[in-house]
Amino acid sequence: MTDATDSSSTEALTQASTHEGGCACGVVRYRMQSAPMVVHCCHCSLCQRETGSAFAVNALIERDRVKLLSGDVKLVDTPSNSGKGQRIARCSACQTALYSHYAYGNIGDSLCFVRVGTLDDPSQMPPDVHIFTDSRQPWVQLPVGAPSYAQFYKASDVWSEGSLQRRAALFATAASRAS
Ligand SMILES: [Zn+2]
Ligand SMILES: [Zn+2]
Repeated sequence: MTDATDSSSTEALTQASTHEGGCACGVVRYRMQSAPMVVHCCHCSLCQRETGSAFAVNALIERDRVKLLSGDVKLVDTPSNSGKGQRIARCSACQTALYSHYAYGNIGDSLCFVRVGTLDDPSQMPPDVHIFTDSRQPWVQLPVGAPSYAQFYKASDVWSEGSLQRRAALFATAASRAS
């Protein structure tokens, strides 16, 4: 592991900005304590159904880097495109969806998919990759040159080296817990 590289890049990202957000009623407030590993724009039909919109924008970040500043979330079991389900963290008062835990290898519980639209400034986290574009709404035009995949992708094709190291650290922690 190259811890030195990872911590220095994390530090730089933390200094660059703090990413705060919250639910619609204002009871839940959270802070992402570093930049995410990657941002997905998911065009799958379940994200469309669940959001009532054309896609969902999710920032993937370690759970221990998402700090709840106020309020409570409840985890709601919800179907996902993979068939393995997801647990959506919703404000216990207004039910706004703030983030999900998806099945992701064995690290789903330590990984938050934060709904970028709940940030105070969602423009800080544009998508790195568009996924499940085979069910994209025909009127949604993807930016020219944006990485896009008909379904899913291989992390090493999209993620930065630093983000791959962060992901590897999550898998290592999960493996040590399991053994
Ligand atoms: Zn709320
Ligand atoms: Zn989706």
